[in-house]
Amino acid sequence: MLATTTRSITDELAELRAAAAELHDLGRIVELLGWDQETMMPAKGIGWRGQQQSTLSGIVHERLTSPRLGERLGSLAEAAADERSPLSDADRGLIREVKRARDRAVKLPTRLVKELAEATTQAVATWQRARAESSWTSFQPDLTRVIELKREVAEAVGYAGEPYDALLDEYEPGATAAGLSEMFGRLRADTVALLEKIRLSGRPVDRSVLEREYPLDRQWQFGETVLGWMGFDFEAGRQDRSAHLFCAAIGPGDVRLTTRLSERDLGQALFGSMHEGGHGLYEQGIGEAVQRTPIGQGISLGVHESQSRLWENCVGRGRPFWQFALPKLTELFPRQLAGVGVAAFWRAVNRVEPSLIRVEAEEVTYNLHILLRFEIERRLFSREVDVADLPRLWNETMASTLGVEPPNDREGVLQDIHWGFGLVGYFPTYTLGNLYAAQLWAAIGRELPERDAAIARGELRPILGWLRERIHRHGGTYLAADLIERATGEPPNPRYLTEYLTAKYGQVYGF
Ligand code: ZN
Repeated sequence: MLATTTRSITDELAELRAAAAELHDLGRIVELLGWDQETMMPAKGIGWRGQQQSTLSGIVHERLTSPRLGERLGSLAEAAADERSPLSDADRGLIREVKRARDRAVKLPTRLVKELAEATTQAVATWQRARAESSWTSFQPDLTRVIELKREVAEAVGYAGEPYDALLDEYEPGATAAGLSEMFGRLRADTVALLEKIRLSGRPVDRSVLEREYPLDRQWQFGETVLGWMGFDFEAGRQDRSAHLFCAAIGPGDVRLTTRLSERDLGQALFGSMHEGGHGLYEQGIGEAVQRTPIGQGISLGVHESQSRLWENCVGRGRPFWQFALPKLTELFPRQLAGVGVAAFWRAVNRVEPSLIRVEAEEVTYNLHILLRFEIERRLFSREVDVADLPRLWNETMASTLGVEPPNDREGVLQDIHWGFGLVGYFPTYTLGNLYAAQLWAAIGRELPERDAAIARGELRPILGWLRERIHRHGGTYLAADLIERATGEPPNPRYLTEYLTAKYGQVYGF
C-alpha cells in the first residue's frame, strides 16, 4: 500500500498517458478498419471484418475496465479536482475523458452490451425491409426492444436530470436535455417565423443550373481544388469515394475523407467535400500536446459538426466564396455555366424548400427536422409517449412546423437508420453543430474584419488559422460549452444562428 500512496502524481500521470496512448491506438485501428470496410473491402470480407472489430473492441473493454486503471484514475481524479494541483488543462481533460469512458464501460453489464448489439443488428436489418415496404408495423417491435435496452443503458450509466441525459452524454459530453430544449425552443420559433417570411417573399429561386450534366472527373478535380484552398493537407490525408459520406481520423497525419458524386447534382460532391473537409481539418489540426491520447480528437459530435457546417455553409454557401470560385468552376464547365452570374449561382445553392427528407434539407429547414427527432426521443425516454405513437407524432409535427405531411412512413418516421442502430441522443448534435458554427462564424467576423473580402480573393487560410488556434489544437481538452465560450467569449447562444440565417436569407429572398 505504501508504494501506491507515495507515488507522485507525475508518475501516475505518465502511466495513465502510456495506457491511454494504447487505448487511443486501438480506437484508431478500429476507425481504419471501418474506413476500409466502406471504401475498399470486398463484399465477402464482411464476416472477417466483424470478427476483427469485435476482437479489438473486446481488448479495449478489458483494458478500460482493468482494476489498475481504476485505481490510477481514482487518485488522479482527486488531484484534478484540487485547483492547486499543478496539472495542465490538457492533463485534466485527459483524466476526465478516460474516466468518462471507463465509467461507462464499467457500469454497462456485459449482458446488456451483448443484447444491445444483437438487438440493433436485427433492428437495422428489419428497418431496411420495413423502409422498402413502408411498413411501420414490421419495424415497431424491433424498435421497441432497442428503446427498452437503451432505457436500461440510461439507468446503468446514471444521470443527474433525466434518463435521456445519459444517452446524450455519449455523443455530446456535458449536454443535458433541459439545456438543449431551451436553446432549441428559441431556434424553432425563430426558424418557423423566418420560413414564413421566405414563403411570402414571392421571389422563387431556380436551382436548375445545378442539375445540368456535370462530368464526374471534373467534379472530382474541383472538389480537391476546393479542399486545397481550405488548407486540407493531402500529405496528411486523402479523399475516396463511398456510398456514405464520412471522415475517418486515423491520426492528425492520416485523415481520410469520402465523397459521393452525382452527374446531375453539382452540389452533392462539392458541398459533401467541403463538409467532410471541415471535419478533416479539425483532425489534422489537433495540437501536439494532446496527440495520441483519448483527447487527441474532436471533443464532441456537436463541435465536430460545427467545423463541417462552418466550411460547408458559412464559407461554401456564402456569396464571397462564389465571387472567387465561380470563375474557376466555369473554366471547368464552360458550356454548363455559360452566362451564369454570381448572384444567380449563389441563390441557386441556397434555395429553401420545406421537404420530407432530413438529408435533403437545406440549412433553414434542416434544424426543424432535428428538433422533431429530439422532442420525440426526449418524450420517449420520459415515458410521455410510446414507440407506437411515433408515426402520428411525426406526421403532426411535420405538418405544424414544416407545413408538409409524409404520404407514407418511408418518407416519414422510417427515413433514418439511426434509431435501429441504437443511436439515440445523436440527432441533436447536428443542430448543436449549426448553432456552434454560427457563433464561431460571428466571432471570426468580429475578429477578422477582412473576412469576406479575403474569401472573395480566395484566401481561406486566415479562417483556418483562427479555427486552429481556438478550436482544433485543443482536441478534447475542454467540454463543448466551455470550448465555445473560450473561443467566442460567450456560452453557446442560439441567437447567432438565427441572426446568421435571417441576414443571409433576407438577401437571398429579398426582404
Ligand atoms: Zn458531418
